[in-house]
Amino acid sequence: MTTIDVSRSGQKLTADLVLVNGKIVTLDQQQSIVEAVAVRCGRILAVGSNRQIESLVCPQTDLVDLKGRTVVPGLIDSHCHMISVMTVDRAIGAIFVNSESGVRSITDIQSRIAVDARQKTKDKWIIARGEDESKLAERRHPTKTDLDKAVSSHPVLVEHVGGHVSIFNSRALELAGVRRGAPDPVGGRYERDPSTGELTGIVHEEAARDSILPSSAERPSLEKGVESLRWVAEQYVASGLTCISEGWVKDGVLVQIAHEALRNQQLPIRIRIDPTKDLMSHLAASGIGEGFGNEMLQINAIKTIVDGAVSSGTAALFESYPGRPGYRGELATTKEALRDLVMEGCSKGYRFAVHANGDRAIDMLLDVLEEAEAKYPRKDPRHIIIHCTVINDRIIDRIKRSGVLPTIFGPFAYYHGDKLFNSYGPEMLERMMAARSFLDAGIMVSAHSDSSAAPFEPLLGIHSLVNRQSAKGKPIGLSQRVSVIDALKMYTINAAYHTFEENVMGSIEPGKYADMVVLGKDLLTVRIDAIKDIPVDMTIVGGRIVYRRLRGSKPSNQHGDQ
Ligand SMILES: [Zn+2]
Repeated sequence: MTTIDVSRSGQKLTADLVLVNGKIVTLDQQQSIVEAVAVRCGRILAVGSNRQIESLVCPQTDLVDLKGRTVVPGLIDSHCHMISVMTVDRAIGAIFVNSESGVRSITDIQSRIAVDARQKTKDKWIIARGEDESKLAERRHPTKTDLDKAVSSHPVLVEHVGGHVSIFNSRALELAGVRRGAPDPVGGRYERDPSTGELTGIVHEEAARDSILPSSAERPSLEKGVESLRWVAEQYVASGLTCISEGWVKDGVLVQIAHEALRNQQLPIRIRIDPTKDLMSHLAASGIGEGFGNEMLQINAIKTIVDGAVSSGTAALFESYPGRPGYRGELATTKEALRDLVMEGCSKGYRFAVHANGDRAIDMLLDVLEEAEAKYPRKDPRHIIIHCTVINDRIIDRIKRSGVLPTIFGPFAYYHGDKLFNSYGPEMLERMMAARSFLDAGIMVSAHSDSSAAPFEPLLGIHSLVNRQSAKGKPIGLSQRVSVIDALKMYTINAAYHTFEENVMGSIEPGKYADMVVLGKDLLTVRIDAIKDIPVDMTIVGGRIVYRRLRGSKPSNQHGDQ
């Protein structure tokens, strides 16, 4: 039995919670698999055989008979938008125009926004998310003209599922004072009709979006926010997630919502917050640095964006996109602006978690991070490249040398695979979401969902990393497949390393947080094409059972129709 050292107290400790008769995949150094685990005060007390662990049971212990089921360490999503998108959407009453909600055409989008407008006063924004032109009958984004036909009284935003393309109606453009001939904002672009020069209403990147959408349109009230966060977080823990990195917190009210939920004991999941530059100066002025917070809620790295999205085919590449001569994707910043921000943050002691998808964007980011480390050297900086999608040998070398950590899309090969196949072609897919290349180079790569850009369920992510097949069965860069254990590590111990928490999270070992997931089928022996269908039976965060599947109820992780 391995246990925490209790010899100084001289007393034998008893457990609050004990799981016995299981197959507990500890992910410790020796890759031990044990029968039982004991928990005390939110931490793992001991792991070992049934007999060893049963000696820690007392009358107050909550004893769970696993009946042979598999337990894995709590799953960690290294980058998603649980608060900044999913909670906010629910709290502000955003509507959905994704294919899952039955939208098949621009006409469907028109009718959804028209219905919403009838329920809102004219000063309220209509915000519709999840647009995906590749799944619309017209195979194109709607334009402002399409939106105007449905709603001209209210300002309307229809946002692409990848978050880098937004479409506004004429009323929205008018309120923002953005007219034909308006110069593009730095880091963004207003699309114009090539023959008339008229604005189409389609805009690229956050900078262009934020020049039209007032921040108040997306600011929830504290009360609605807390209620919505709880609702969303309950779904996350039901999928086996015990910790997430929240990747885009630009409004202090979002931190307040998370904190308030925690204080009211309505936060079942650990949250690591990546604030944007907008919040960085406020945090710095208050002396709040990385790691500030507690075991449940903590400030992490500063998030910024270098280029476009993979799912909208706008990642910044060195070469042209297949079949699109001269088109190399979109940068969302200039190297100078990126350097200014990173230098400012590093001078204040922050590290960075930066969205960079294409090889051209990653290269630019590595230049800047190397410069920053030369000027403000730190022993163990662990800057993060979020997505780090399209790589080459040189990039792998530079990442390895600099100690920068990539986190890649987990579910994308499955969920967005068919679209990626069309945009990037089969050859480039062999060096995209390059789990195998990173692991072979000894790089501590983790994985993320980027939800709501893809489903948050981590078992779908593991399924996708192991199989590298689209939902329709197309191979999506098979040379980058990894083993089940490697994919599991990307969602556990490797992800813990990304937040400097490898000593307290990511494996089932004495002294670590008691974060565990009981699975309804054995992840290590189930057919790999059925990983995504494994039901989550129980999720434990800090020794507390935060989710228990009702007998006979269906698992939530069903994405068969994508
Ligand atoms: Zn993101």
